[in-house]
Amino acid sequence: MIATWKVSSVGLHTVRLTPFTVTDPLSTVIYPRFAISLSNAYLNVKCYDYVIKDATGEVTRGTDKSKMNIKYKLSFVKSASNNNTEEKCPNCGAPVDIVSSAVCPYCDSTLVKDAGDYVMSKKVSLGQTLER
Ligand SMILES: [Zn+2]
Repeated sequence: MIATWKVSSVGLHTVRLTPFTVTDPLSTVIYPRFAISLSNAYLNVKCYDYVIKDATGEVTRGTDKSKMNIKYKLSFVKSASNNNTEEKCPNCGAPVDIVSSAVCPYCDSTLVKDAGDYVMSKKVSLGQTLER
């Protein structure tokens, strides 16, 4: 059976940001390179998500009548220290060589070079429900 996965009318419904937290204030003094600041963003995305059989157009998975409500948690980290120029992974503190983007060889965080800004370290799907 040849089928097509359809995703349409994707909309960002809500975004909630948690306050920034520093992992260990003491460590910013003693081990500045290992201190990180963390924030989480909770996204609520709504879209149609279904599969059709190409030959007939019959919906074989999901539904084209109701939207899915999908929740994600995105985690952002940054180094709590900003007084050195050495590039390091903001998630685990390992030294890294970032050209424009890279994956940390120690903790697998996705790294994007943007000095001093937060980088997304993790994306987790928190589940999905069908809208009524
Ligand atoms: Zn790392």
